[in-house]
Amino acid sequence: TAKLRNDGAVVYDAAMDKSSEKSLSLLSELRKAIEREQFRLYVQPKLLLGSGQVVGVEALIRWVHPERGNVFPDEFIPFAEQTGFIRVLTGWVLEKSAALCRDLAAQGVHLKLSVNLSTRDLLDQHLPQKFADILAHHGLAPSSFCLEITESAIMDDPVRAQHTLARLHAMGVDLSIDDFGTGYSSLAYLKRLPVDELKIDKSFVLNMEHDEGDKKIVRSTIDLGHNMGLRVVAEGIESAAVWRLLAELGCDQGQGYFMSRPIPCEQLPAWLVQWQA
Ligand code: C2E
Ligand code: CA
Ligand code: CA
Ligand code: CA
Repeated sequence: TAKLRNDGAVVYDAAMDKSSEKSLSLLSELRKAIEREQFRLYVQPKLLLGSGQVVGVEALIRWVHPERGNVFPDEFIPFAEQTGFIRVLTGWVLEKSAALCRDLAAQGVHLKLSVNLSTRDLLDQHLPQKFADILAHHGLAPSSFCLEITESAIMDDPVRAQHTLARLHAMGVDLSIDDFGTGYSSLAYLKRLPVDELKIDKSFVLNMEHDEGDKKIVRSTIDLGHNMGLRVVAEGIESAAVWRLLAELGCDQGQGYFMSRPIPCEQLPAWLVQWQA
């Protein structure tokens, strides 16, 4: 059924069709957004907690929508995953990140680019080759990338995920377990997967200064990671006090609003200059 709205627009509001209608239009909007270059690459610095030296950045996608403004990934990434469109987005992020990495290297700045992968990406048999092509095109070593994967993405189809991850790791790219501690049976997979980094979820970090329970979880995770020979990264550092505490606990790297919010990648060179000053 169609309905006339106060402003004169005709809206289609049959409850039954509503969600599929909405999905279809979101998918076509995402497709248009790629063509119309509405996606932006944002980056958030990752730094050594001991010295404050910036060693990498995490790539985070933003959608600058002509009417809705800045749309955050939580609003479209889950949908992009359901529809498989995530493969297009991941390709876009890898391409933009590689271009950024090459441009920075040309200026003498060598940073590792961390890129988020989703479940669907891990089921994509062609991902390792696509990634290799992008690296070759920009003349980059695989070691200039770190791929962040969540536990739930691995759990979806552990056998295939393990296969894709093994191929990627054999190329020389770093692998990171993102949102560590929020998924299931993480320990079993930690043993079997070729992982280089553990990323402590921000839900444990944000308030760890005041929450004994959180602090214990963070401390144990750092020890666990180190005992397994992994580097440990904390996300969600919003204060100097939390940075200091994490450094005392021996956490290797961190990122968070205290150091920098995610910024448009074009602003990174200026941010780095100001950070070093
Ligand atoms: P994530 O990978 O866990 O990324 C960290 C999120 O925490 C980012 O949100 C970041 O802006 C936010 N954050 C960083 N520091 C702080 C802090 O100090 N305090 C607080 N409260 N938050 C902080 P964002 O950019 O909105 O991304 C949300 C999620 O969307 C990401 O979580 C990731 O799962 C997904 N995502 C973002 N970009 C991509 C992408 O290119 N591909 C895929 N597959 N997923 C992406
Ligand atoms: Ca991440
Ligand atoms: Ca995370
Ligand atoms: Ca997350």
